[in-house]
Amino acid sequence: MAALEVRALSVGYGPVRALHEVSLDVPSGGITAVLGGNGAGKSTLLRAISRTLGFHRGTAGGGTVHFDGRPIGQLSAAGVVAAGVVQVPEGRRQVFARMTVADNLRAGALGASGGRKRYAASLAEVHELFPVLADRAGQRAGLLSGGEQQMLALGRGLMARPRLLLLDEPSLGLAPLMAARIGETIQQINARGTAVLLVEQNAAMALRLASRAYVLEVGEVTLEGDAAELASSDEVRRRYLGVVDETAAEDAGLAQDRAPVLRRWSA
Ligand code: ATP
Repeated sequence: MAALEVRALSVGYGPVRALHEVSLDVPSGGITAVLGGNGAGKSTLLRAISRTLGFHRGTAGGGTVHFDGRPIGQLSAAGVVAAGVVQVPEGRRQVFARMTVADNLRAGALGASGGRKRYAASLAEVHELFPVLADRAGQRAGLLSGGEQQMLALGRGLMARPRLLLLDEPSLGLAPLMAARIGETIQQINARGTAVLLVEQNAAMALRLASRAYVLEVGEVTLEGDAAELASSDEVRRRYLGVVDETAAEDAGLAQDRAPVLRRWSA
């Protein structure tokens, strides 16, 4: 059974139509990816699920969202967190730069139920995943590197003990090695029982991590299916993995040694 069921979701920002009748399922326990270029509506989709659209002056124009069979489309943002769905927003903007690493993590636990013991257990798990966050506990978050800030953002999300984590482009702006490290951590988080909805422009990484994937274009789902199958489909290879069709390159008269064959996104 799908943990998250999104049906015919439409969203606008004033006159801008950002999502049109988007439907998708996120199975409990799995990693599901949403691919798409700039402006496709990926962040909007996550904001609609986490009920944070209002902070961006967006409005839902129809559709339903259920989590574990329960409607969550009318809850407050805090209500969605309490229901077990936590969003880690895009990039470095969202750590509290002037607060310490420890206080950022404490802030992540504000919506979580449970007392001190639960908090200590969550913190120990986050430190186990990201030892650097223990080493830098007293430092201001703004002084961390980009990759460390992304770790802190993930760690802060985990402090709320989510059953579903919504990740907005966790590899954005990171060097390939750090992006790969974040990818491994997402797998570890998932292996510990948290379902993941991963929004990424880095299609190579997303398709490697996910079991199912959706392609979003100009606010609509245009492709969906098994991640491995999508990764081998011509359209996804050409449009999202940057794989140049060898025959077409030859037809276009490119010398074989100059043909940009198999140029892949760095991951
Ligand atoms: P990116 O990868 O560039 O972040 P995205 O796939 O996440 O893109 P969204 O940020 O969801 O796309 O944007 C979808 C559409 O909604 C775009 O046309 C964008 O310009 C518009 N949009 C997003 N946020 C707002 C906003 N706060 N006000 C007005 N329009 C917005």
